Amino acid sequence: MARRTGSLAAMNPNAAVWDGKPYHPISLDYKSRFGGKVVKVPVSIAESCPNRDGLKGMKTCIFCDEHGSFAYADSQKDDLKSQIELHRSKVTERFNAAKFLIYFQAYTTTFTALGRLKSGFDLALSYPDTVGLVVGTRPDCLSEAVIRTWKEYSDKTFVAVELGVQSFDDGQLEWMRRGHTGSQAIRGIERIAKETGVNATGRPNVDLGIHLMFGWPTENDKQIIETARLCNSLPISNVKLHNLHVLDKTPLAEMYRAGEFQPIELDLYAHRVALFLDHLDPRIAIHRLAALSNRWDELLAPDWVRHKMRSFQGMIDRINAAGAYQGRRFAAELPKVVDDVANGAGLIDRPDVKHGISI
Ligand code: SF4
Repeated sequence: MARRTGSLAAMNPNAAVWDGKPYHPISLDYKSRFGGKVVKVPVSIAESCPNRDGLKGMKTCIFCDEHGSFAYADSQKDDLKSQIELHRSKVTERFNAAKFLIYFQAYTTTFTALGRLKSGFDLALSYPDTVGLVVGTRPDCLSEAVIRTWKEYSDKTFVAVELGVQSFDDGQLEWMRRGHTGSQAIRGIERIAKETGVNATGRPNVDLGIHLMFGWPTENDKQIIETARLCNSLPISNVKLHNLHVLDKTPLAEMYRAGEFQPIELDLYAHRVALFLDHLDPRIAIHRLAALSNRWDELLAPDWVRHKMRSFQGMIDRINAAGAYQGRRFAAELPKVVDDVANGAGLIDRPDVKHGISI
């Protein structure tokens, strides 16, 4: 298993190191890697996913809308060239950036023919201001050929992979109908690291990140802490956090209307994020703290998701008020984590750790 290296002291718990934030924002990594601001341009190349296709009896994930979590639904069916150009102009307007990562976001990107995928990568890289590729996919859609392709492209450009892990708890995964288990996610992460190799910093040659969701009905503090510890033991470079929220025309919307699901309130969500950050290795970068929706028309609940800046600031205030910051409690746990990483091939092979956390 790859070891995450890098000076803890350099990253460590001093909010000033992170542009005044109580967490390590990925924008800082991008700045140092690319020498300036870089923005992701979402595009859609896949047309479906194993769940929507009903593979092995799978069903659509309960939270997913018909666009497969895509940011620009109106132009989703456009050809890739048009999407790149249109979405790039949209993000330029919003973020004033001159360098871009083309983000293959919608559905399950690797659930598409390899040839189509490669042509998409090549087209994306043909724009001189494209500085890399980002691929969103699931932990159980990782063929050898796909990982080999990432490795091949990572030899010539920046390649990031975002795996939709969501949770390591098998009960929660089943509840949301993900169709994969926590141990499959762990195995997928370890395989990507092994098969793409590691660079001089001990990290996988592809920039490997995972998506996690908080706000499940059975979730508790202990589980959040265990999730952070598990992240610390895995060869990942970054994490993207989502709060489970209700979009119209999803299975979750039906459950919400039937009174079977209550979305997490901002206070409790901020508490859980603070706990997660407290225990998280400060070298793991954070994409964002919550999925603050820009698809207002589809959002049913909770309402705080609608108020992007206010809710973001509310979370930061709550995290600061709790005295929390990323890695605050990680240092105390470091010897154990280092031992685990040094002695084993990762948690997956340890008999005392369950695959998929169940507390
Ligand atoms: S979240 Fe991903 S895997 Fe689940 S239904 Fe949506 S596109 Fe498919």
